[in-house]
Amino acid sequence: MPNTKIYLDNAATTKISDSVLNAMLPWLKEGYGNPSSIYTLGREAAVALNTARSQVAKALGCDDNEVYFTSCGSESDNWALINTAKMMAAKGKKHIISTAFEHHAILHTLQALEKDGFEVTYLPVYDNGIVKVEDVKAAIREDTALVTIMYANNEIGTIQPIPEIGEICKSKGVIFHTDAVQAIGNVHINVKEQNIDMLSLSGHKIHAQKGVGVLYVNKKYRLAPYINGGAQERGKRAGTENIPAIVGLGVAITEAVAGIDAKNEKLKKFQDKIIDAVMKIDRVHLNGDREKRLAGNLNFSFEGVEGESLLLQLDLQGIAASSGSACTSGSLDPSHVLLAIGLPHEVAHGSLRISMSEYTTEEEIDRLLEVLPVIIERLRSMSPLWEHIIKGETFKIQ
Ligand SMILES: *Cc1c(COP(=O)(O)O)cnc(C)c1O
Repeated sequence: MPNTKIYLDNAATTKISDSVLNAMLPWLKEGYGNPSSIYTLGREAAVALNTARSQVAKALGCDDNEVYFTSCGSESDNWALINTAKMMAAKGKKHIISTAFEHHAILHTLQALEKDGFEVTYLPVYDNGIVKVEDVKAAIREDTALVTIMYANNEIGTIQPIPEIGEICKSKGVIFHTDAVQAIGNVHINVKEQNIDMLSLSGHKIHAQKGVGVLYVNKKYRLAPYINGGAQERGKRAGTENIPAIVGLGVAITEAVAGIDAKNEKLKKFQDKIIDAVMKIDRVHLNGDREKRLAGNLNFSFEGVEGESLLLQLDLQGIAASSGSACTSGSLDPSHVLLAIGLPHEVAHGSLRISMSEYTTEEEIDRLLEVLPVIIERLRSMSPLWEHIIKGETFKIQ
């Protein structure tokens, strides 16, 4: 097993909690029946599936028959966008509104739709990483099919004004989808009160297994099936259900939602402590709004530091963190999220995302704050650019 002692990359994925694992195990062993089968072994699996569906519905504030299990958050995003686009194109509506800093599961799907003749308006998110409600309002047109805006950003943790956007979409009769993968278990969500028509979430960001997700769809919309085949998921998403993962997701979402306030209270203290300490370092920026952010998520840019080197140095100390999204790590392109909030390329390159969970301890944060300033100083002392930066010389990395 890897020798990571301090895990601060919970926005990339989380560990499976003990209660989730214990709930899953019987369904991986003796409870292996197919929920479509009529004998007892199958019916028991069907009951477990229904229970998990009710747990998700309760956590979101919707009806059981508005919950669809999928294979991941990305699938939920693809389904919501592609099939809503198709449904609305039939009514002559081919305009979609989104933001510049969505997850790639949204952005790349939108790009595919653009190739198919849809027009997409990407709203700005300004330097605080928050979309303006009035921009959404102004962008809605007669032919707008869909608004899709994430609930909380995965790289910088900023929380979007989703209930207000939901209100506007409702008043204009436009379908509203939100990617809530990062928000579930961190923000209080009720899809009916917040006028959300469709919502995506993923198990592995809330201590369930990888490879299971949910799409909530308001029952007034008759979305076309995404996978054709059997009658699973009320004929909309064929494929024998992944019962152990779904059972785990039901437990995970119940616990995540029940624990929101206690977790936020604890993590907000850690967040303040980290910000106070890190902002003492020379030439550092906190990315995203100081207040309207997830309590467990922090993103800093250090001038004159290369993000990948920083991650490797932290790893040598047994600390796992990220320099943006897991998908961008390993590529030399700066994060589209950091560019969207106006960071210059060279500053975006020196970024660090710290994402905590309810399992994060104060000792772990203290250890991070002990090693981080030392690493930054060492990296800067080796950097040929740092001297230019402190002399105030402007430059561009070619
Ligand atoms: C992780 C993530 C996804 C993708 O979820 P998967 O289950 O890994 O496909 C989508 N959107 C956001 C905001 C995420 O953080």
